[in-house]
Amino acid sequence: MSFTTLGLDPSLIASLTALGYTAPTPVQLEAIPAALSGGDLLVSSQTGSGKTAAFLLPALQRLHKPATSGGMGPRILVLTPTRELALQVQKSTHAYGAGQRLRTASVVGGLPYGLQLKLLARPVDIVIATPGRLKDHMDRRTVNLGRVELLVLDEADRMLDMGFQEEIDAIVAKIPKERQTLLFSATLEGIVGRLAQRVTKNPRRIVIARVAEAKLDITQHALVADNDAHKVRMLDTLLREEEVDQTLVFTATKRAAEELSGELLGKGFDVGALHGDMRQRERSQMLQRLRERKMKVLVATDVAARGIDVPDINLVVNYDAPRQAEDYVHRIGRTGRAGRAGVAVTFLGHQDRHLVRQIERYTGNTVSMMVIPALEPKNRDRPRYSR
Ligand code: AMP
Repeated sequence: MSFTTLGLDPSLIASLTALGYTAPTPVQLEAIPAALSGGDLLVSSQTGSGKTAAFLLPALQRLHKPATSGGMGPRILVLTPTRELALQVQKSTHAYGAGQRLRTASVVGGLPYGLQLKLLARPVDIVIATPGRLKDHMDRRTVNLGRVELLVLDEADRMLDMGFQEEIDAIVAKIPKERQTLLFSATLEGIVGRLAQRVTKNPRRIVIARVAEAKLDITQHALVADNDAHKVRMLDTLLREEEVDQTLVFTATKRAAEELSGELLGKGFDVGALHGDMRQRERSQMLQRLRERKMKVLVATDVAARGIDVPDINLVVNYDAPRQAEDYVHRIGRTGRAGRAGVAVTFLGHQDRHLVRQIERYTGNTVSMMVIPALEPKNRDRPRYSR
């Protein structure tokens, strides 16, 4: 796959070639054509994924077309959490846009107002700003956001972590509603999800696997299970291990989540279930109970567990094996958070053993096969060369 097939202008491709970029990264492959088609995007991707080019290339291509309105003020606004990132984005803008006439301004905190005022008083195509300083300029009426056609929120999660929510809302309120909005963030859940709802229209979600997350401090094991009864016995043993704090258990279906949590309740565990059939309120209550440590085990389905962030979860059990390596990464990423050690255990049917290799290849991590004494699987493997 090359940059040409993504629909980029030859002048942009020439700059990329000059920079030695030969092929788009996964986030570029997905986000560039989607952004060129004009719709809003929510993109979850990490630093280092090539996300900057994923929004700058469509932004630069937009400037090839005439502006939709006259006057002063930028057509493109990029918000970033820090001055360093803003300056880096500005540098990339000139590298990718080397083949076009381009007027940019960075409007960031910690630098004098003088030059920023000068730059904003002239025609400018792209402004790259941190929310606090841009809001100051807005309040002093030294910037006009009425011409913005494309708004990019880069590292939205970090901007919110840094307390920029009010500034972002105030800035967005001054930008025309008929704009395109691209939101990039490591996560799209929780507070970022709520921001996304306020600032985007019918966004397309693009989730790039968080391979980096799997490289956290997580010890990974797989256990072969004969059947459900065997899985329940193994799970029971694991949950009674002394080092195990709170545990998240994944099942393939909502029904399995209900049944398994009922079974564990019968065995005396403080347990709850979380799945897509529950109302939002019930789900929030369940997570609250987990956070308040009123519950030790939560049995969940993949979709329901996205975005769960409970620091005391130190064991994730894949009671049903994930369908694909990407789901595995999302699941085990619920433990080992904030630099704490976590353990992930995957139960595999005899026929699912190949999954281990697949997961190892995808994550670059090692998954070691393990048996629990007295709960070994029956050896159903045929000798390799027998017929
Ligand atoms: P970013 O995630 O935007 O911070 O980009 C990470 C690094 O990857 C930067 O140094 C970019 O210059 C580089 N980069 C971005 N896209 C490509 C690509 N398609 N091919 C090679 N390098 C790239």
